[in-house]
Amino acid sequence: MNKKRLSSFKTHKITIKKPFKFSYKEKIVCPYCQNTEDFYEVIENATFIVYYVQNEEGMLEPIEEDVEVLGPVRFFCGKCHADLTLLKNRITSGKE
Ligand SMILES: [Zn+2]
Repeated sequence: MNKKRLSSFKTHKITIKKPFKFSYKEKIVCPYCQNTEDFYEVIENATFIVYYVQNEEGMLEPIEEDVEVLGPVRFFCGKCHADLTLLKNRITSGKE
């Protein structure tokens, strides 16, 4: 009985609090050009898997695509192109 009440209270609290904290306080700011808006990510060693079904005429029909990321994902400033991977990792993983 006690356990049940506790867990429902907990999930309720998390869903309300989380988006608040992240989107407003922990902003990524480029230390080189102070950019806070434009960023891009480079994914290295990504494997794209496309699943096909071959029909009776020998035509391949794609049914599903899958992306498997093997290498590191690097994060860059969209204005001065500085590598901000460490900065982003610190901000996004620090509070989790
Ligand atoms: Zn920058």
